[in-house]
Amino acid sequence: MSRIFSGIQPSGELHLGNYLGAVKNWVRLQHQHPTIVCIVDYHAITVQYDPEQLRVRRRDMALSLLAAGIDPNIATLFVQSTVPEHTELAWIFNTVAPLGELERQTQFKEKSQRQESVSAGLLTYPVLQAADILLYRADLVPVGEDQVQHLELSRVIARRWNAHFAAGEEFFPEPQALLTPARRIMGLDGQAKMSKSLGNTIGLLEPSDQIWEKLRPAVTDPKRVKRTDPGTPEVCNIYHLHKAFSPPETVEHVAEQCRTAGWGCLDCKHVLHGTMLEELVPIQARAKELNAKLSLINDALATGTARCAMVARETMREVRDKMGIT
Ligand code: ATP
Ligand code: MG
Repeated sequence: MSRIFSGIQPSGELHLGNYLGAVKNWVRLQHQHPTIVCIVDYHAITVQYDPEQLRVRRRDMALSLLAAGIDPNIATLFVQSTVPEHTELAWIFNTVAPLGELERQTQFKEKSQRQESVSAGLLTYPVLQAADILLYRADLVPVGEDQVQHLELSRVIARRWNAHFAAGEEFFPEPQALLTPARRIMGLDGQAKMSKSLGNTIGLLEPSDQIWEKLRPAVTDPKRVKRTDPGTPEVCNIYHLHKAFSPPETVEHVAEQCRTAGWGCLDCKHVLHGTMLEELVPIQARAKELNAKLSLINDALATGTARCAMVARETMREVRDKMGIT
C-alpha cells in the first residue's frame, strides 16, 4: 500500500490554492493510506521571515489543517523541526543532488528574483523536501502543480542514493506526485499562482464579507471589457474556482452565461461566493472550536512528532550504516 507524505510551509495563511491543490487530497486520502502531513518550518526560513511571526503561523497552520479535515486520529500531523532527522538526511542528500538541476528549478528562479539576498537554503529547498518524503519512505505525494518539478528531482536523488549506497536496491522509493483537478489556482491578480508569499490569496478562514471584497475586483477574462462582451470561461480563474466549489449544473450554467454575456462577471462572482461559503462555513466553525481548545492542537502535534521520530530514527540508523557513517 502506498505511503503518503506531504508538507505545507507556515509562511502565511492556508489559502484556497493550498486547499484545492493539496489539502483536500490529504483529507480524502487519509482514509485510504497511511498519511503524514508536515508543517515545514525549515522550508519557511529559506526566505526572510520574522521569528515571532513564524511561531504564530506554525500554530495557525496546524489549526487550519485540522479545521480543513485532517484527522489526527487517522493521519499524522507534525512540525518538521521537531524531528531533527529531516535536516540530517537533507545534508546527506546534498552530497548526491545534482547542482545543475537545483539551479534549473522554477521555484528557485522565481523566489530568488524576489529576494535581496539569495540563500543557499533556497537553492537546496528541494533537497530538504526529498529528505522529508524519503525519511518515511513515502511513495505518493499529493501536491499542487508547482511542486511536480521538485518531485522529479526527489526521484533523481532517491535513484542516485540507491545506486551509490544500496547496491541499486530500492531502499528509497521514487515518490510520485498526485494532483487534483485544481492543481494550479491563480492569484486574484491573475498574474501568478495563488501564493502565501504573494499577497494574492483568499484565506480558508477569512470572513464572508472579506472574501467578497477580494472576489469583487478579482481579475477575470481580460477580453470581457464591457458587460456585453462575451467571455471564454476556460481562461477565467473565477470559472476554475466554480469548477472546484459549484455543483456541475451550476458550472455548466456559469460557462453558458459567460460565453453569451448573459451574466456580467459580478453575477458570476456572486454565485461563486455562495457555493464557496457552503464549503468554507463548516471549516470555519471547526476552526472556531479549535481556537477555544488549543490543547487539542498541541496534543495532535506531539503525537505526530512521537510517531514520526520513531520511523525517522530507524531510517537514519540504516542510512548511516549503509554509508559507513556509524
Ligand atoms: P509560498 O508562497 O510561501 O511558497 P504557497 O502558497 O506556495 O506558499 P506552499 O506551502 O509552498 O504554499 O505549498 C503547499 C502546497 O500547496 C503544495 O502542495 C503546493 O503545490 C500547493 N499549492 C500552493 N499554491 C497552489 C496553487 N495556487 N494552486 C494549487 N496548489 C497550490
Ligand atoms: Mg510554495
